[in-house]
Amino acid sequence: MTHTVCLVPGDGIGPEVTSAAKRVIEAAGVDIEWVSLPAGETGIEFLRSPLPERTIAAIIGHGTALKGPISTPIAGGHGNVSVKLRQRLGLSAAVRPIKSMPGVKAPHSNVDLIIIRENTEGLFCGIENEVAPGVIQALKVCTVEASTRIAKFTFEYALSHDRRKVTVFHRADLLKKTDGLLLRCARKVHRDFADRINYEEMIIDSGCMQLVRNPSQFDVILLDSLTGGMVSSVAAGLIGGPGMVPSASFGPQCVLFEPVHGCAPDIARKGIANPLACILSGAMMLEHLGEDAAASRIRSACELALSRGDALVLTPDLGGSGSTTSLTDAVIRALK
Ligand code: ATP
Repeated sequence: MTHTVCLVPGDGIGPEVTSAAKRVIEAAGVDIEWVSLPAGETGIEFLRSPLPERTIAAIIGHGTALKGPISTPIAGGHGNVSVKLRQRLGLSAAVRPIKSMPGVKAPHSNVDLIIIRENTEGLFCGIENEVAPGVIQALKVCTVEASTRIAKFTFEYALSHDRRKVTVFHRADLLKKTDGLLLRCARKVHRDFADRINYEEMIIDSGCMQLVRNPSQFDVILLDSLTGGMVSSVAAGLIGGPGMVPSASFGPQCVLFEPVHGCAPDIARKGIANPLACILSGAMMLEHLGEDAAASRIRSACELALSRGDALVLTPDLGGSGSTTSLTDAVIRALK
């Protein structure tokens, strides 16, 4: 069966890592018709918009997309394109598996947890105002609807993926109404799962410390949009860095798969970006498309390629002297 998938290569190292993922998926024998779409710098160049309507419509139309990171100007210029895209597509739930891989030098080797982030509300609404000269406010918008939706998604995900515990990270001691709302909704939804899934709450400051000291105590962690991004980066550091973490964002009309890392302009076009986060995002996508066998072959091939520990193959972020191509080739050779 041929699947049709939108491909948004994005900016910086995006084109390099998405084409690596495409190569691996093709080598795994899955038949995909790719619809390449501009966004970010290519969107501005070809369609005069960092987020062209045509790109949004195509993703909704085809239902599945693999995306690279997209650049955003700091403290000015247009808004964050990836955040806007997730909002326009209603991709409210992001799933980010944080899993140790063999042969990767990292602070911990026994990490296997899932971060679930509410993608569309909280401070990611991006509503900021100058209320008086020199006084700026940012609105953290939280609704019962989105908080209940992400809580349901989280417990259902935990149940269907054999997970036993959900921990909500929050600052409801300080943000009693906004973070308090997420907690109230999560507690209510948990009642329907109480016999199968354990539930706990942790103030995020303590949660981050516990995550770094003893990550194996966590199973599924639920966070809001802003803190979800920050904690995902900390968690990436536990297993070898930003090049290791894939993600899937789910909405009612479509699902988008992308590496968690950014554009990494410092290494763009040097051919040394670690492609694994994007390749593993591709494996998550194949599972979503019902290609479970190919997804699991790709995951095993990534593990095998890493476990050989060949410095000539591994990219510099993993301590090697290899390239995006050498690591991608090694994954393809390891496909069984
Ligand atoms: P953005 O502003 O788009 O979020 P960023 O690249 O500054 O992008 P991160 O993704 O957090 O933000 O990356 C920080 C640094 O980590 C990069 O500058 C790069 O040096 C390194 N890095 C990120 N992704 C990779 C990767 N796939 N392979 C190798 N190094 C990476």
